[in-house]
Amino acid sequence: MILIYHHVCPLENIPARQFPQEGWSYTVTPDDLERQLNGLRERGFRFVDFDRYLSFAEPNQLLVTFDDGWRDAFDYAVPILERLQIPATFFLITSGMPGVPADRHISPTQIRQLLRSGMTVGAHTQSHQTLDEIPLEVAKKEIVGSKTRLEDWTNEPIRYFAYPFGRFNRRVMETVREAGFQAACGAQGWGTNNELCRYRLHRDMLSPRRFSIMNRLRTSSWFRQLMQLSPSQNANHDAASEKSAPEFPRRNATSPVLPGRELESPSLFFTCEPVDDRTVS
Ligand SMILES: [Zn+2]
Repeated sequence: MILIYHHVCPLENIPARQFPQEGWSYTVTPDDLERQLNGLRERGFRFVDFDRYLSFAEPNQLLVTFDDGWRDAFDYAVPILERLQIPATFFLITSGMPGVPADRHISPTQIRQLLRSGMTVGAHTQSHQTLDEIPLEVAKKEIVGSKTRLEDWTNEPIRYFAYPFGRFNRRVMETVREAGFQAACGAQGWGTNNELCRYRLHRDMLSPRRFSIMNRLRTSSWFRQLMQLSPSQNANHDAASEKSAPEFPRRNATSPVLPGRELESPSLFFTCEPVDDRTVS
């Protein structure tokens, strides 16, 4: 399972002057974040980084992601993640959002600090445009440009991507793959996203309340099986056997690998063909 967060900020510190594109309605307080993460760990989830998440698909693995690169997430979430030893991924935009003050975003110096803290940095375009609504050439510039800029800032390869607003179509997905990203995350939406396709990975957003019914539902294995969001039990067995013999990666008979395609790594994740040009909500 992959979780998506945006702002992490005490309610009293939310700026009075807000811009609609900042999405402050997606704020989780630091206390709620810590309670949620602790609660998930108590329930048996194991927090892993993106590399590990892609390497072995296990139902209890949990990847935590933060979108947009908000300064408050750096200030309030990172100390919690460090304390709980949770390796999260931050999907960052590199040119800011039009009209939003630059200091509301994580700076290049702070991005390097994220890496030193054991976090993963991923790209989220240059300016957070809706990729399936703009000309493909512009989308390509947004996708490739953010990767290049982040690599300049960090001196590290940037291998993961998240679609702004979770929106993409076949050509956008292809562009992300051609740009050299190894995986990409969508957002909420069970129609087009898929937990096993590495270029449209499904993510869940929990409500701020730790024990809300929706949180319980979203994180329950039977519900995720029902929504086809979790690897099957058989698939998990195969993933476990692959773990013991990683030098012999093999295709899992129960995984939905498309005909003619080989797995790129000993995991269940496959490089899928996009089904059509639908977008997700
Ligand atoms: Zn975003």
